[in-house]
Amino acid sequence: MKVAVFSTKAYDRQFLTDANAESGHELVFFEPRLTPDTATLASGFEAVCVFINDELHADTLQTIASTGTKLIALRSAGFNHVDLHAAAKLGMKVVRVPSYSPQAVAEHAVGLILTLNRKYHRAFNRVRESNFSLNGLLGFDLYGSTVGIVGTGKIGVCFAQIMKGFGCNLLAYDIYQNPACLDMGVKYVELPELLGDSDIVSLHCPLTPESHHMINSESLKDFNPGAMLINTSRGGLIDTKAVIKALKSGRIGHLGLDVYELEGSLFFEDLSDQVIQDDIFGRLITFPNVVITGHQAFFTRNALQNIAEATISNITDIDSGHSCPNLVIAEQGIAV
Ligand code: NAD
Repeated sequence: MKVAVFSTKAYDRQFLTDANAESGHELVFFEPRLTPDTATLASGFEAVCVFINDELHADTLQTIASTGTKLIALRSAGFNHVDLHAAAKLGMKVVRVPSYSPQAVAEHAVGLILTLNRKYHRAFNRVRESNFSLNGLLGFDLYGSTVGIVGTGKIGVCFAQIMKGFGCNLLAYDIYQNPACLDMGVKYVELPELLGDSDIVSLHCPLTPESHHMINSESLKDFNPGAMLINTSRGGLIDTKAVIKALKSGRIGHLGLDVYELEGSLFFEDLSDQVIQDDIFGRLITFPNVVITGHQAFFTRNALQNIAEATISNITDIDSGHSCPNLVIAEQGIAV
């Protein structure tokens, strides 16, 4: 199949080229994101292969469908950035990579917790300047603290296992209870109770119309004062303006983000020579108790290899007319 691969960096090209060695699809790599402005690059390609910040709204889908695209191969698990109904109406198939390394994301969430708690980012800079003072570096024992997990799917369960290893008490909120979590002693409660009883809240549910801004000015009132909030899932789960107010009032004591609701114009690019125009993001990075990484939780060798292999296998399934286990169905919003 002839595939236009958008949003590619050197590492994407390397892993996809290696994974494609035997399948022999014609992969053409484009560095820009897929947007209404770049959609014409896909002209004549049967498939487009995209990542999380590519824009697959109805207008973009219409453009690429009109020039021959029939398949959208997502290099991600999440599909909140695709208008599935528009794709279905245009007769386009959408495939995704449902699981590539839940451990990578869970481990990164734990990294954010340790960094915020023990302030490694500040200690690193101090020691390099021969400042060995411990003032301002005081943390707390994770052992015995209460961790609230919102979303106990593949990543949430890995995260629960790691935090159990630290000796934390585990609470969870999910629309379904995961038997693996119940077996390890996780207690399922309603969201307000989880927010009120947790020292650390970590978000691991998908972004859907129901979960959009689940952390907002109202739910922030339920938080245990001074609690830590971690989001490695999707930026839209948090109303960022509301969380800035909560940081200013002290309701939120630490914030660790790998995702941000307006990350599309920022993340994955080197903007170090530019003035950041996003004032909300600009305010966030001024807080000493906020650590932000640029959507790197997935970024391990293992995950990139799994993403590339599953992507090529999905394209091969569709190309050869076989059923593809990773097809996303609009009506159900899930893979079947
Ligand atoms: P999953 O589908 O295995 O699990 C998601 C869980 O969330 C399910 O148990 C589901 O029942 C639950 N859920 C759905 N809606 C909910 C709601 N409104 N409230 C509470 N729980 C709800 O998904 P996963 O593989 O664990 O991934 C979770 C999310 O992590 C993805 O949707 C994606 O947005 C994000 N992610 C981020 C990165 C990264 O690099 N930062 C990488 C991969 C995935």
